[in-house]
Amino acid sequence: MQAIRVAQFGGPEVLTLEATDALQGQSATQVLVEIRAAGVNPVDTYIRAGTYGRLPQLPYTPGTDGAGIVVAVGEAVSRVQVGDRVYGGWPITGTYAQFALYEEAWVYPLPSNLSFEQGAGIFIPYSTAHRALFEKAQAQAGETVLIHGATGAVGLAAVQLARTAGLRVIGTGGTQAGRELVQAQGAELVLDHRSPDYRDHILAATEGRGVNIILEMLANVNLGHDLPLLASGGRVVIIGSRGTVEINPRNIMAKESTITAVNLFSTPPERLHHIQVQLASGLRDGTLSPVVAQAHSLAEAAMVHRQILEPGALGNQVLIP
Ligand code: NAP
Repeated sequence: MQAIRVAQFGGPEVLTLEATDALQGQSATQVLVEIRAAGVNPVDTYIRAGTYGRLPQLPYTPGTDGAGIVVAVGEAVSRVQVGDRVYGGWPITGTYAQFALYEEAWVYPLPSNLSFEQGAGIFIPYSTAHRALFEKAQAQAGETVLIHGATGAVGLAAVQLARTAGLRVIGTGGTQAGRELVQAQGAELVLDHRSPDYRDHILAATEGRGVNIILEMLANVNLGHDLPLLASGGRVVIIGSRGTVEINPRNIMAKESTITAVNLFSTPPERLHHIQVQLASGLRDGTLSPVVAQAHSLAEAAMVHRQILEPGALGNQVLIP
């Protein structure tokens, strides 16, 4: 089969498209999926670079997110059958490939109204956004959430989840196209996180009270400035950070705020399975609908790894094996 392989950690050029041995002989509880679309997430680039806290053994095939069709199941598998459309969570083998192997527990039904490209943008982005909003921030209808970095895969998932749950959404994006997309997804106010005065607009939009929740995609840049934007009892959930940041603890004390975080790799499996159950009806009725920025061939994986770290996000990047 065709698969992207990484023989050594390094820059995007270490992603090479190779003909590899077919995956076969899945054990009793495993499922073989023909991958029709693989989702590319920023964490794939940190792992490829060798800078992430959890690294696979070399050589490896990258990719956690994927969607496709079940082509073989072990004899003890009962929840899915050959021919089912599925999206997956933690795969045993990477999804940047024509086939990937999963434990049965980590494949979920892909509703017929969603494409495989959309399915490849569910597990990491929507699980992260859901855990941040509802399990970490304990979001309630009527509260105001600032989605700080709303144009990317996690941000757009969060906009859809927050709107569906009756929250008022303020989003940020770095490009006009991104801000229009976030607005079209239901944010009430969308601001440019590169403009010098956008925080003033957030305070003005809340009559000076501040927002109840901030979902933070770039904490190393924003966390110190986030704290004065919180209302009394506000919560910041750190989702992304690419460095260190200085904060003033008094800004946490002043409003008895909470700083918390999500790390999907540390989220208990039962929570992740529960989240997929929570997502299912929204995915079926279209209130949750992954936004695909662009689909690329597997051979373009290196280019996509460069692009995903650049400004100008517009949803999920996917690879088509
Ligand atoms: P993505 O699709 O590449 O989007 C990145 C987002 O960050 C875009 O909305 C981008 O906006 C925004 N951004 C850029 N500069 C910003 C700034 N100064 N302030 C606020 N936002 C800014 O990535 P993603 O998949 O949505 O993931 C977002 C972050 O969360 C990444 O760092 C990722 O590694 C992390 N993440 C963490 C977990 C976890 O378990 N903790 C899970 C998934 C993702 P523009 O491009 O419009 O400027």
